[in-house]
Amino acid sequence: MEMGEREWYFNPAAPGVMGGDDLDELRGVVSGCLRCELGPKRRNFVFGSGNRRAGVMFVGEAPGADEDAQGLPFVGRAGQLLTKMIESIGLRREEVYITNVLKCRPPGNRDPLSGEIEKCEPILLRQIEIIRPKIICALGRISGKTLLRTETSLAALRGRVHDYHGVKLVVTYHPAALLRNPQWKRPTWEDLKFLRREYDGVEVR
Ligand code: URA
Repeated sequence: MEMGEREWYFNPAAPGVMGGDDLDELRGVVSGCLRCELGPKRRNFVFGSGNRRAGVMFVGEAPGADEDAQGLPFVGRAGQLLTKMIESIGLRREEVYITNVLKCRPPGNRDPLSGEIEKCEPILLRQIEIIRPKIICALGRISGKTLLRTETSLAALRGRVHDYHGVKLVVTYHPAALLRNPQWKRPTWEDLKFLRREYDGVEVR
C-alpha cells in the first residue's frame, strides 16, 4: 500500500496528533469517512468491538443490516454463531477483537467492490497495528483473499498459517456460510482447533 493511501487519517511522523496512536482516536478520525459510495448510505459506521489488547482478532467481510443498525460487528444470526465458534475453543467474545474488512454496509449485502476494499483496508491495517494480535482469523473467502492479496480458493487457504504484515493469519468459513451449509461446521471446528493451537498451544478436543 502506498503511504499516501494512509495519510488521510494517519501521519506516522506525528502519532497522537493526526490520529492513530490508539483505537478511540482512530475511530474518531475515520468514523465520518465518506471516501466511497457506502459512506452516505450507512446508518452506522461499524468500526469493530472487543478487547483492545486481544490476542486473537476475527475479521469478517462487511456489516449487514443488523450491524448497520447497531453500529457493532457480528450482532445478527451470523454473529451469534461466531460467538459460539469463539466459545467452542475456550475463549470469550469479550476477550477477542472483532471487525470487518469494510466498515460500512454494502447495499443488499452485495460483495465488497475492489475500490471499496482499497479505500477501507488502511483502517483495518491500523487496527491490527494498534491491537497487535498474536493471530488473525479471516472469516470467509472475501476476508481471506483481501488480507492475503490472492485469488486462491478458500479450500487452499484453510489449514495453514499465513503471514499478514508479521502477524499469523488463518482462514476459515464465514459463519453466514455455515448457516447455509451446516456440513461445513465440522471442517470449521478443525480450523478453530488449529487456530487455538497456533495461538497459544492449547489443544482443544
Ligand atoms: N457478516 C460479516 O462479514 N460481518 C458482520 O459484521 C456481520 C455479518
